This record gives sequence, C-alpha cells and structure tokens, in this order.
Amino acid sequence: MVNPAAAARRALPSLDRLLGSTAVAGLIAAHGRSRVTEALRAALEAERARLAAPGAAAYDEARFLHACAGALHSSAAPSLKPVFNLTGTVLHTNLGRAVMPQVAAEAVMAAMIRPVNLEFELATGARGERDSHVERWLKQLTGGEKAVAVNNNAAAVYLALNTLALRKEVLVSRGELIEIGGAFRIPDIMARAGAKLVEVGTTNRTHLKDFAEAITPRTAAIMKVHTSNYVVQGFTASVPEPELARLAHAHQLPFIVDLGSGTLIDLEHYGLPHEPTPRETLAHGADVVTFSGDKLLGGPQAGLLVGRRDLMARIAKNPMKRALRLDKLTLTALDAVLRLYLHPERLHEALPALRMLTRATDEIAAQAARLAPQVAAALGDAWRVAIVPCKSQIGSGALPVDALPSAGLAMTPAARKKTDVGPLAAAFRALPVPVIGHIKDGALILDLRCLDHEDEFVSQLQGLRLK
Ligand SMILES: *Cc1c(COP(=O)(O)O)cnc(C)c1O
Repeated sequence: MVNPAAAARRALPSLDRLLGSTAVAGLIAAHGRSRVTEALRAALEAERARLAAPGAAAYDEARFLHACAGALHSSAAPSLKPVFNLTGTVLHTNLGRAVMPQVAAEAVMAAMIRPVNLEFELATGARGERDSHVERWLKQLTGGEKAVAVNNNAAAVYLALNTLALRKEVLVSRGELIEIGGAFRIPDIMARAGAKLVEVGTTNRTHLKDFAEAITPRTAAIMKVHTSNYVVQGFTASVPEPELARLAHAHQLPFIVDLGSGTLIDLEHYGLPHEPTPRETLAHGADVVTFSGDKLLGGPQAGLLVGRRDLMARIAKNPMKRALRLDKLTLTALDAVLRLYLHPERLHEALPALRMLTRATDEIAAQAARLAPQVAAALGDAWRVAIVPCKSQIGSGALPVDALPSAGLAMTPAARKKTDVGPLAAAFRALPVPVIGHIKDGALILDLRCLDHEDEFVSQLQGLRLK
C-alpha cells in the first residue's frame, strides 16, 4: 500500500540540494551560509511535520523559499526602532523622551565615523577635558561657574551626594522624597551614594525651623528636590529656596537642588506653564543644581550639574565620574542642541521638543481633519473614526497638572456589541513604523501633537492587518 504522506515527505528536497540551488544563493549572499542553513533545516523539519497531516497541500518550493526569506529577514530586524509617538505625552520616557534635531543627528554621524578631539586641546596639543565641549554653553546658559555632564540626572544626583555627603547626613523635606517612574527614588539613590537621609518636616508642610533644628555636626548638605511629577495641594508649606540657601550658608553647608527637568528658557514666554530654570535656582543661592538633558532641554539622555567652582571641581574629580561620564556621541549631540539655545528666537522651530510643546491647537486640529478620512478609509466599515479634542502632557515628570490642548483621532468599533479596541491598537503597533496611541473610554486615541512624517504615517496605513 502506498502511504501518500510518506510519498509527499520523500518529495521534499535535501538540504544540500537547496543550499546549492540558484534560488538560495541570493539568501546566502544576504544572510550568510550558516544562518541560511539553520533556517532551511528548521523549515524543512516544519514542512515534514506539516506533510504528515492527511490532506496537506503538496510541497511548493517557491512558496517554501519565500517563507524562509521572510523568516530570515524578520529574525535579523532590529528590535529598537523608530515609532510614531501619538500617546499625547511629548517627553515619553518609554519612547525615548526628547526627539532631537537633524543638526544633532548630523553631528553625531560625523563623530561616529571619524576621530574627534574628545579629550584633546587643538590649540596646544595637550590632553583636554571631555566636558569642556558642553561646559562653555552650560555656564553661559545657567550662570553656573562650572559644569559637569554625566549619563543621566539620576547619576548627577548620585555624584553630587557621593562627593559632598559621603558618610554624612543630608536634610530633605518629607514632601520631596519622591519616586520618578521606574526605579529612581531619592532615598534609594541617597543610600547608594553613601549619604544618610534625614527627613525634615511633614509630607504637606515643612518650615525653615524644621531644617534649622535638624542641623548637627554630621550634616553635610541641605537638598531640595523639585517635585516634578506631582503636586501637594491644600494645606501646604515649603521653604523658599533663598531661605534654605541662607540657612545652609550660615552653617557652611552646600545647598543642592535637583531640578529634574530643568528647562533652560522661560517657558512662559512660549505660552507654557512656568518651570524653574537652573539660572533662577542658582540666583536663589543653590550651590549645585542637577537636571536632565533629555527632558525639557530637548537633548540626549544626560545628567547635568552646574554650580559653585570649588564644589563642582570636587564633583568632577570623584572617581565615579569616570564610570558615569558621557561618551563622544552624547557629548556631540548635547553640544549641537545647546548651541541652538544661542539663537532663542529660532528655538521653537529648531528644537523638536519645544516645537511639539508649542504647536498651535488649530494646526493639530487641521491635521486631524486631513487625516480622519484617510484613516477611516484604511479601517473600513467596521470602525468609526472621529476627530476629538485631546489634552497632551509634557511628560517626564514636568508640570504634571498642566495639560496642553490638542486634537486627535478616536477610533471605536462601529458595531455596538464589539467593544474591544485592543486588537486595533495591536494592529497599529504592528506597522513597519509602529503607531503608539492610548486607549481611553473604549476608544483608541491618536493624539496628533507629535505627528511628524505625516506622509509616511498615511502611506503605511494600507498595511494595517485587521482581524
Ligand atoms: C527625571 C528626574 C530625575 C531622574 O532623571 P533621569 O535623567 O531620568 O535620570 C531625578 N530627579 C527629578 C526631580 C526628576 O524629575
């Protein structure tokens, strides 16, 4: 008796025959022999299993090789890639925070593929200091006497405390013992930095005398943390910076301020809510101010410290600076972004983060009106697409209560009994440039405030795979 399944399996080509075929030569050129061999072996095995089922369609070599090529291609694709951030949160930590300007990208590209004078004084030929490339701008933009740059603001806080308060006490208001997304908690960083936290006052109210009474010979610093990602409302009191600075200085203690976002410009000038600047904070008497490079500043991930020359010099000499320092690419990007601040009149166009934060609501609404019919056409009859007002968030902890009026598209199932928009959100995320929105009240919302590359957004809509 003839076993049809066994016959079908015998019709499968051998691995060697496939590897020698002209059709596979192209795959080997693209992916290398060993990866192609492995992929073909796995695919042949799967094919053999498939053919064992009664009534299975016969082996089709063109289709088989097409599937192998697809698998090879997707297994080599990068997992970290550009996406559309239509979440409504401009500085979205999970989506890489600030989008950087083209000039920064071009500068980084040159620094990647050519040697650079990272720690080399061109005028003298002597060894240079890597932070000098950004320090000159930071001094100018903040009024600080000296600046140091590290990998992120958590590292900046760590380095300041580890340098100035190792095995000593640091006074912090109870209302400022904050956690910032993920794993950054002020008390934890302080412990790892080797400083002992002394909590002062209560959660909602802290007075100057609370600080004054907590000062002992073991005190090394007074620290203020900008409560960037929440607000304490109602019966509250905190000590103004100038008073804390005066108290610290009367006891020869440094006053450290962690600003978190720390914008370099007056945001009110752009119609945005006020956020403290390092310049203001230094003018209030802070000795060391720390802030992020990739929040409102609009640059790459970095932690920046500015302040008093003597304290900053000690911070720069901490051996941990070596472990936390910036690489040449980040320094190059930071330099390019900081130089945009030299021309403040152009900043809102030149700096993508600021451009997105200041985009006119009318313009976003017009974009929504333009896109709604195209999205509706791509989704078909099963979905309703509406233009809706949105409230964008600045994100990254900055200004948590102030929302920016925006516009977006809301997608809901046309049939009342179907309510789950999860699969639609997944289909948008599965596009070649994934589209990330948010789900609210049973609708998938795409806030268009941060939509650049509109043509690309539209052209890939036809690739939406809806169940
Ligand atoms: C965001 C933030 C940090 C951490 O900054 P990273 O650059 O993310 O390390 C620290 N302190 C405050 C107040 C912040 O808002």
